[in-house]
Amino acid sequence: MSKSKKLAFVSKECVACGSCVKVCPTGAITIYQGMYAAVNPNRCVGCGKCARACPASVISVLPRGGDEVA
Ligand code: SF4
Ligand code: SF4
Repeated sequence: MSKSKKLAFVSKECVACGSCVKVCPTGAITIYQGMYAAVNPNRCVGCGKCARACPASVISVLPRGGDEVA
């Protein structure tokens, strides 16, 4: 679905505050079992809003592996 070249990754230090969920324009993030944020790679468009909103700075937006366009 998504053709973006970047994808958000959440590290294990996520405190499940939900800030990223609120700002994501595509609804790509859910809090998995109340423990940490999980990004749906098919919905993420790599905009970086979640990373900027994360109070713990645990989100990185990185180039997608595998099928990215050069
Ligand atoms: S980079 Fe953008 S689209 Fe992807 S999870 Fe973060 S806010 Fe959502
Ligand atoms: S904003 Fe950061 S700490 Fe909060 S749920 Fe999202 S990734 Fe986790």
